[in-house]
Amino acid sequence: MRVTVLGFQSPYPGPNGATPGYLIETQHTRLMLDCGSGVLAQLGRYMPIYELDALLLSHYHHDHIADIGVLQYGLMVHQLFGERNPGKPLPVYAPDSPAANAQSLVYKAATAFHPVKEQSRAKIGDMEIQFLRTDHGDGDPCYAMRLEAEGKVLVYGADSGPATNWGSFLKEADLFIGEGTYLDHNLPATPNGHLSVRQLAQIAEEHSCRSLLITHLYHGYDPEEVLRQASAYQAGACHVARIGLQISLQ
Ligand SMILES: [Zn+2]
Ligand SMILES: [Zn+2]
Repeated sequence: MRVTVLGFQSPYPGPNGATPGYLIETQHTRLMLDCGSGVLAQLGRYMPIYELDALLLSHYHHDHIADIGVLQYGLMVHQLFGERNPGKPLPVYAPDSPAANAQSLVYKAATAFHPVKEQSRAKIGDMEIQFLRTDHGDGDPCYAMRLEAEGKVLVYGADSGPATNWGSFLKEADLFIGEGTYLDHNLPATPNGHLSVRQLAQIAEEHSCRSLLITHLYHGYDPEEVLRQASAYQAGACHVARIGLQISLQ
């Protein structure tokens, strides 16, 4: 299984940047997790967008879905040009609320909506996927995802505050893609559905994750400082997200 970071910034893309989006590939399947601002332009560096097998959305905040509309236009045009089967819309797995957002995922024959709930499981190609509701936001669901394929486990934590109940979901993941929204100097006094880099590192260590990719970062952060504040994580390799970073699990 290989991960390519297409975007990682939040709440908005910096110069030449992109907000969250990740390409996940096995020998047989290519998925995208989240579809933030600027992600589609990055995806095209690695593959034609019309060869994507599925898209999974953690939640409907703009930094995670901003490029959905242009993806739908793109797929529609590729169907028109004969490069993608017009009878085969791209499956988009996403929360079923808010309803208006969910409905927007059905677009002509280009995209089809597959509702996700806490107990949902999905099998896409050779990937098995489970979902976990996180502590995030304003009452609408946000789901972390656990992907298993080729004998490896990848957990995408999505946006997940300190009250997220990870249980065994995260245990010994080969890679945890986790949000480190705050550095020490801008951590709010009251938790608001996000983690600091320091909090993330502790969670990854407690759950014996075999490697960590710190993401959902403000574009102005110094990656060296991010690494320093992640020092509580000692269980494996620690990566700071950047566009184009690839991590192979083998
Ligand atoms: Zn969010
Ligand atoms: Zn976010």
